[in-house]
Parts: sequence; C-alpha cells; structure tokens
Amino acid sequence: MKRIDRETVQKILDTADIVEVVSDFVHLKRRGANYMGLCPFHSEKTPSFSVNEGKQFYHCFGCGKGGSAKTQICTAICSRLMEQNKNVRYMLWRDETVLLKALTTDGEEYQSRIRPFKSVPVLYIDDFLKGGHTDADIRLAFEILNSRYNDSRLRTIISSELTLFEILGLDEAVGGRIYERSRGYVLEAPRENWRLKHDE
Ligand SMILES: [Zn+2]
Repeated sequence: MKRIDRETVQKILDTADIVEVVSDFVHLKRRGANYMGLCPFHSEKTPSFSVNEGKQFYHCFGCGKGGSAKTQICTAICSRLMEQNKNVRYMLWRDETVLLKALTTDGEEYQSRIRPFKSVPVLYIDDFLKGGHTDADIRLAFEILNSRYNDSRLRTIISSELTLFEILGLDEAVGGRIYERSRGYVLEAPRENWRLKHDE
C-alpha cells in the first residue's frame, strides 16, 4: 500500500486551517462568517454543512456531525486513502467498545462484530481509550491492535487525548504495539490537546 508520507501529513498539519483542509473534499462557499458546503457525512442536495474559520470548527445542521481540527485532520487523511480506493473503517472507540463488551467474547456475534476492526485495510480509531479504561477495554484494545500489528499491510490511524507515553504506562503490550508500528508517525499537538498517529 502506498503510504501517506510524513511530509504530506506534516503539510496537512502545518496548513491545518480547517477551511483549507475541508476544501480538499468539500466544495465550500462563503456565507457570512461561515463557509457552507454539501455535507460529506450524509447525502444532501442543499448545503447544510458549515465551517467556522474563526473557531476552527465544523458542524452539519442536517445530520448533526461536528468536529474540530483533530477530527478534521484524521478525516482528511482517511478521505485521501479512500480516494486511493482503500477500504477505510471508522471506529468511535467508546461507542463500539460498549457494544462489544455487551457480547460474550467467544460468541459468534462478538466475532462478526470485532472482525472488521481486526482486518479492515485502514482503521481510524477516534477518541481511543476516552472515558476511562477497564481491564476489558485494555483486552479489547490488545485484541484489535495485536491483530493489526501482526499484519503489516494494515494501517491504523489513532486519535487520542492520551499521549503514546501515557498509553505505554497504562499497558505495555498495547502501547508497545502502537509504538513499534508508528515510529516517526506520532504527531502531538499539546495546545489543541489532540494526538494523531499514522503508522507505516
Ligand atoms: Zn450532515
């Protein structure tokens, strides 16, 4: 798989003006203080997707999706990978793990629910380990990341409020797998409190 080189990621980061990043995949028109365009998250004919340059924030009045530069950069990377016809799967950590934890780990339903996260070519994990972490969360993190770690063709983008160092402190096996696959691809932005990792 052709990877997004560090330069590109850095460029997205440097020019991380939300309007500019979003313009890469949404046609935006200025309307008053905001920019409007057709929402990339739901299908629509009249623009209800609004980007606020001053606040570096986007919001869709149609489907309610909103986010900041952190989400935006990960979304931008995913959208570029999708342009290369890569199969990208989005995983909002907390929502998915709540569902997975409700199933018995050896059940068929559990297996079919977790399988895509273990095997999709590109997985974007959003808000990794947000909202606390029990042993069950760490086990899930290990099951998914270890499986991806063992297949070097798979790419994982992880966005978390925790630094890699903090994740290593929580669990060495989970942190170690992220560390080994992400060398040179960990981006940290303390000011905005977001982290991004793109492994090679
Ligand atoms: Zn929308």
